[in-house]
Amino acid sequence: MTDTIAAIATPFGSGGIGVIRISGLQSFNLAAKIFSKTPADVDKRAPQFISHRVSHGFICDGETTIDEVLVVPMKAPRSYTAEDVVEIQAHSGTIVLRRILDLLFSHGARPAEPGEFTRRAFLNGRIDLTQAEAVADIINARSDSSLKFAASQNLGTLGQSIRNMISGLTQFLARLEAAIDFPDDAGAFSYTSRDKAELQLVADKIGGLIQQHKDACFLKTGIRLAICGEPNVGKSSIMNRILEKEKSIITAVPGTTRDPIEDSLIIEGIPFVIVDTAGIHQTDDLVEIIGIEKARDQIEAADIVLYVIEPGKPFPEKTVSTTLPDDKPVIFAINKMDLAHELDLPQPPSTYADTSPVEVSALTGQGINTLRTKLLERCIGNLEIGDDAVIPNLRHKNALVQALEHMTTMMEGLENGQEEETLALDVKNCIDHLGTITGDTAPPDILDAVFNNFCIGK
Ligand code: GDP
Repeated sequence: MTDTIAAIATPFGSGGIGVIRISGLQSFNLAAKIFSKTPADVDKRAPQFISHRVSHGFICDGETTIDEVLVVPMKAPRSYTAEDVVEIQAHSGTIVLRRILDLLFSHGARPAEPGEFTRRAFLNGRIDLTQAEAVADIINARSDSSLKFAASQNLGTLGQSIRNMISGLTQFLARLEAAIDFPDDAGAFSYTSRDKAELQLVADKIGGLIQQHKDACFLKTGIRLAICGEPNVGKSSIMNRILEKEKSIITAVPGTTRDPIEDSLIIEGIPFVIVDTAGIHQTDDLVEIIGIEKARDQIEAADIVLYVIEPGKPFPEKTVSTTLPDDKPVIFAINKMDLAHELDLPQPPSTYADTSPVEVSALTGQGINTLRTKLLERCIGNLEIGDDAVIPNLRHKNALVQALEHMTTMMEGLENGQEEETLALDVKNCIDHLGTITGDTAPPDILDAVFNNFCIGK
């Protein structure tokens, strides 16, 4: 890590400002070689960089002035990588940034690999692995909520939470090991009710984080909502109302939507992917049958189903029970309420968890906001953003699942008088799995996998 790396840190293309980042022992020297307080054709004045103070000047290649720039020098460890860093703010154009970068390479800088700046920040102990991953999540955030999660993770909330668990387990492990090393000392290890409560607390915490992963995943990928129902109940019209644009084809001929139509939108910062499906009913039309099969697949893949019914018709119990899997969350909406007048409203039977349908009219917009609110409540009602560290990351979840397995085996072993060596092994394994989340015990291939996802310059 002694070499000095450089890369363009801002997106390629034209723009107001483009930033080149240099990190490593030679970064101040390298910047001084290409930077002058005056343009190239005037007497060059070598810069006196003062850490964290902006310098104005010019990037010069021999007698040629390349660009007028601002330079931000940052002495270690008060920088992104915790090394000496210089950031050059130039005009953002592909050619100008490339020329400055090539100049730095000609003076001995090495091109940075993807994620190498963040990797250095991690290896220098300035951030843990969860914070490094949060950098990628912040860059890729597509909604307010995923940004909020990533930002909270960037502050190290998750890492701290994991470290607290590791610290408690390490103390417990020390007592177990003392009992193994000094078996004659009767006071070395005794399993108290306080131990039991504390270990249970850790197990609950891990379990809670695994559960939160499921909820938080929505925020990265979007909650999949399938709109289903019999033909002509107004599925496409409701989708368009929710999306507030014309995407599906609306016609008065039943069976128009034969292929699932997908779109995405953000409701109060939460991303949704909405799929409008073919009307589900008994038919001999081959094309419709294919559409209905696709609709079933969409229901299978959905996180939640919006089942549309209409006034004046009985609740389609048979179709619903044959299409909706038992464990699929569902919201019923009675559409065409503008036509309801004296008509009877269909009532979902008590077998469904939520039997109070939302009354809407895709035509007038009635009830659409209530429907959006209900969708949010059903999907993320239990998810407290920001109150605790959450895990919208599969790598973290897998590590937690493994940690919990060892935790559970160990706690059962304690109850059953398992020997200390076996218990200690489970505690160690649990700690190791937790440690891969913060990076403390992450093997190089995990680090490569994390940092290879970054773009160059980050
Ligand atoms: P889908 O087959 O379930 O997707 O139904 P569509 O959205 O294509 O709508 C079928 C017909 O019902 C069209 O003629 C719509 O204009 C009409 N429609 C949809 N929603 C409403 C509504 O809320 N009120 C009234 N009066 N007509 C509606």
